[in-house]
Amino acid sequence: MKVFVTGGAGYIGSHVVKLLGRHGHNVLVYDNLSTGHEWAVLAGRLVRGDLNDCQLLRDTLKDYQPDAVMHFAASIEVEESTREPLTYYRNNVVNSINLLEAITGLGIEYFIYSSTAAAYGAPDTSPVDENTPLNPINPYGTTKVMVEKILQDIAASRDLKYIALRYFNVAGADPDCEIGQAYSHATHLITRALKTAQGSQGRLSVFGTDYPTRDGTCVRDYIHVADLSSAHLLALMYLRQSGLSDIMNCGYGHGFSVLDVINVAKNVTGVDFPVELAERRPGDPPELVADSSKLERLTGWTPLHDDLPFIIETAWNWEKKLSGKVGITDK
Ligand code: UDP
Repeated sequence: MKVFVTGGAGYIGSHVVKLLGRHGHNVLVYDNLSTGHEWAVLAGRLVRGDLNDCQLLRDTLKDYQPDAVMHFAASIEVEESTREPLTYYRNNVVNSINLLEAITGLGIEYFIYSSTAAAYGAPDTSPVDENTPLNPINPYGTTKVMVEKILQDIAASRDLKYIALRYFNVAGADPDCEIGQAYSHATHLITRALKTAQGSQGRLSVFGTDYPTRDGTCVRDYIHVADLSSAHLLALMYLRQSGLSDIMNCGYGHGFSVLDVINVAKNVTGVDFPVELAERRPGDPPELVADSSKLERLTGWTPLHDDLPFIIETAWNWEKKLSGKVGITDK
């Protein structure tokens, strides 16, 4: 298939692009390189472009004539979204509308959308399935829910089928260590823990110790980026075979607290890095754990890396490569 991938030079997108290439698909990555990297695009070709450049976007799509679109490009940090909501509405909602307008009339039938567990807000139940009410508690989650609704309406009005994948906490790096997260301002827990272990950050803050969880810190379902990538390919195949739009959670079905993650990170790295207990971070729900049985049932997804030490080990190998290798820049 010919697959047009927005954000394909970024962390998750680049892993999916690599897998698409391995499976013989033809890929065109459209990325403004604001957080992505040219070297991360290991299959197909890259067009450097912004989703707010409607002319370039339309011309590129018309010229390429893809069969499917995978839409990763977005702003993704919860805390930042609480400080800069308009940036999030523009990058995530307006730019998604630009993309959906640009593909109108090109006969593209399949659309895979990167959604998020943040759509559920702070759910009462755990694990959460896709029927759990959507009640985002931060602008990031709201933008993702808005685009899901837009997709639902478009799919009802014309010949576009979509799968929205609701990611839980994506972590780890390519087991071949060719790509991984490469963003120096990364706010995610595992990346920060490893940067602290490496000494590039003084201490790791634990944001909130008074949550209603077993040790008082937030619980998340950490999914390896390679398993998330295979979910994308399977979702696309499912969409092509069934022609049925749907929404699917992507996670392993069990959670780890912030303190659990820190312990595993210390074991994997062998570094007893400094940790401080800090105030809650705005916008964080206490617990988010996925019920991904729909993804497994409908697409045949079978995760291979449901193992927190392995997830952290791949991320650690990547961090070491990133800090040592000439030519890999960490934006
Ligand atoms: N977290 C933390 N210290 C950090 C970064 C994150 O305690 O330096 C916590 C954060 O408050 C949340 C959990 O780790 O409870 C996971 O946060 P992350 O940013 O990795 O992912 P999110 O769940 O926000 O998408």
